[in-house]
Amino acid sequence: MQINDLRSQLTGPVFVPGDPGYDEERATFNLNTPLTPAVVAAAASPGDVQLAVRFAAANGLAVAVRGGGHLQPRAGEGQLLLTLDRMTSVHVDAERAVARVTGSPRWQEVLAAAGPHGLAPMNGSSPTVGVVGYLLGGGVSPVLSRPHGYASDQITSIDVVTADGRLRTATPTDETDLFFALRGSRGNLGVVTAVEFRLLPVRTVYAGGLWFAGERVAEVLPAWRDFAATLPDAATTSVAVQRLPDLPDLPEPLRGAFVVHVRYSYVGPAGEGERLLAPMRALGATVLDTVAEVPYTGSAMIHHDPPLPLPYFDRSLGLRELPDAALAVLTGIAGPRSDCPLTSIEIRALGGALDRAPETPDAVPSRGLPFQLFALGIAGPDAAAPMHGHLAGVITGMTPWAHPRRMVNFVSPEEALTPGELRDVYGAELYDRIVAVKEKHDPDNLFRINHNIVRN
Ligand SMILES: Cc1cc2nc3c(=O)[nH]c(=O)nc-3n(C[C@H](O)[C@H](O)[C@H](O)COP(=O)(O)OP(=O)(O)OC[C@H]3O[C@@H](n4cnc5c(N)ncnc54)[C@H](O)[C@@H]3O)c2cc1C
Repeated sequence: MQINDLRSQLTGPVFVPGDPGYDEERATFNLNTPLTPAVVAAAASPGDVQLAVRFAAANGLAVAVRGGGHLQPRAGEGQLLLTLDRMTSVHVDAERAVARVTGSPRWQEVLAAAGPHGLAPMNGSSPTVGVVGYLLGGGVSPVLSRPHGYASDQITSIDVVTADGRLRTATPTDETDLFFALRGSRGNLGVVTAVEFRLLPVRTVYAGGLWFAGERVAEVLPAWRDFAATLPDAATTSVAVQRLPDLPDLPEPLRGAFVVHVRYSYVGPAGEGERLLAPMRALGATVLDTVAEVPYTGSAMIHHDPPLPLPYFDRSLGLRELPDAALAVLTGIAGPRSDCPLTSIEIRALGGALDRAPETPDAVPSRGLPFQLFALGIAGPDAAAPMHGHLAGVITGMTPWAHPRRMVNFVSPEEALTPGELRDVYGAELYDRIVAVKEKHDPDNLFRINHNIVRN
């Protein structure tokens, strides 16, 4: 089949380099990870996805999928890119407390549809992240995961077009190998066209941020670690040493500021949330304190992630413990006397329901991981070498306290581009089980423009 055949058969448009619209269609959120496909199939229906997958297979092209565009580890140069924006829909069944999404919605669309019913999806810190890309990596909510587990635990059904062009529905009772492996292995097994997942009855949370002056990092980090250890599962916290950009969407005192940002949320009565937070407030003067009872739909204010596309570099590491020595290393790397140019080095305290086994087995490798570190530097490609150097410095510095597992959603473009590294992220046993499903459903590795899970 030639491109013109694809154009004539697909309901949605097809773009090749040079076509008006090609650049918009391949755009990513991280401007440092551009996609450079030979052809973009902008699917308008599951049938379009099937056609495009069959076209790619017949023409020897690999298939990339762009959802929210936050984490594309490979450019897919010369391959086929599928976009699903034209088939995006969000339907909330308030009676069953379930959402069904098709195509590639961002979390903000689910929040907007579920919120009026007093229902909450288990979205992450940034509402511009893609729903499907996030769910396929497990998904850790800065509010609902310690109480309720991984976002992917709420999935009841996944529609996926596999490499043979068939549209399959994976549930706990049908296509069970796919249902297991899809939840945690990202885009390795096919193109997900629809997902159904449960919503939770949460209208308000006691949540926000305490921003302390960056000069106090050596004092705030150990206090935060001790505070995090006291919290019940209903409360969640993370901490970040940040050199914030001067962006208008940040509250005024934070623009261009050097701060230690303590994030906090509590699902339950505001008074109890306030009582639990008291040890951190007792540290005294903050640059800003936004912790209050807020609608769940506004919980993006906890992290204040950038809402618009930016160029950035990132690295991540799972941590098994945070003794004083580890915090001293971090203070040396990012504290007031360092030359650290990184925008943010955050540590999320995990645990709670994130450590519980799912109802049906899945491919999420990070249960039992106590802390996740994520470091990010906003800078364009010209600054790639120094940024990579500083990010590597963070990882090397914290490696003595590394945990063997990591959260799949934070495995960056810089990491796990070889099967050996990715095997370490999952652990050998789980990795081999995913490989077995991959070899059954995608024997020619059509879906390899991702963190590619293959035998090694
Ligand atoms: C600012 C920021 C904040 C974040 N906060 C959190 C957080 O709080 N919790 C958390 O768990 N993660 C978080 N993440 C990580 C995020 O969840 C992952 O990067 C996620 O994979 C992004 O999905 P996407 O659709 O936006 O990205 P994309 O780059 O479009 O996709 C990511 C991967 O998923 C695959 N994919 C996407 N859609 C499909 C589909 N329909 N079918 C098959 N494969 C598909 C892609 O091929 C790619 O491999 C954050 C990331 C950023 C940049």
